[in-house]
Amino acid sequence: MSDCIFCKIIGGQIPSSKVFEDEMVYAFRDIEPMAPVHVLVVPKVHIPSADGVNTENSAYVARIFEAIPQIAAAEGLTNGYRVITNCGEDGCQTVKHLHFHILGGKKLPETMA
Ligand code: AMP
Ligand code: ZN
Repeated sequence: MSDCIFCKIIGGQIPSSKVFEDEMVYAFRDIEPMAPVHVLVVPKVHIPSADGVNTENSAYVARIFEAIPQIAAAEGLTNGYRVITNCGEDGCQTVKHLHFHILGGKKLPETMA
């Protein structure tokens, strides 16, 4: 999508701090980290949110979840981490391109909502 910030990051039109890339997945550091490690993992196709996952594109999600343990290991997250995706208005999703936050490097708060 031409006006999508994460599509522009994937395409190299907006700079990012890349931590992982393969033919389906791109991962980069969050610009406003909420933990010592805060990485965003995104599909290289524009899927608007978790609510837009379907049988046509779910292979991208599977590949993301194959990449996550590799990214976590490379980031030194040996004591665990959290994976979050915010979806839609009530989920407080701000960027409308599916992304999974990897948060770690400290003991995270227990509360989720
Ligand atoms: P969400 O609120 O789940 O949609 O998360 C969007 C995330 O994208 C936020 O944590 C932002 O800090 C992050 N973000 C927005 N723009 C950029 C950017 N240019 N580079 C890296 N992270 C970004
Ligand atoms: Zn996009």
